[in-house]
Amino acid sequence: MPNPRVPREKIPWFPTINQDACIHDMECINFCKNNVFDWNDALRVPDVNRPNNCVVGCDACAKICPSEAISFPPMEEFKATLRRLISESYRGADSARVAEAKPA
Ligand code: SF4
Repeated sequence: MPNPRVPREKIPWFPTINQDACIHDMECINFCKNNVFDWNDALRVPDVNRPNNCVVGCDACAKICPSEAISFPPMEEFKATLRRLISESYRGADSARVAEAKPA
């Protein structure tokens, strides 16, 4: 699902933690190998400190969370957002080409 035309930091795909639902078992921290989370010792919940490390389209941590405390954007909504970002990236490239083609 990643697209080289859209920088990762513009893609709104990363986990959101419902701190009230979290049962503090650290399953997500131990499971995810992409260094998305840090453990917040004070609150005893995961913090999503590196959201752009999340693999676009992956929601495996939400599936392993026993208390359903992790959520992602609804897939259809996310796909529409991604289509819009890709479309905008092409429009931006077209505008740049037109500007380059104009004589100074
Ligand atoms: S897996 Fe779910 S319940 Fe366990 S620490 Fe992570 S968010 Fe909390």
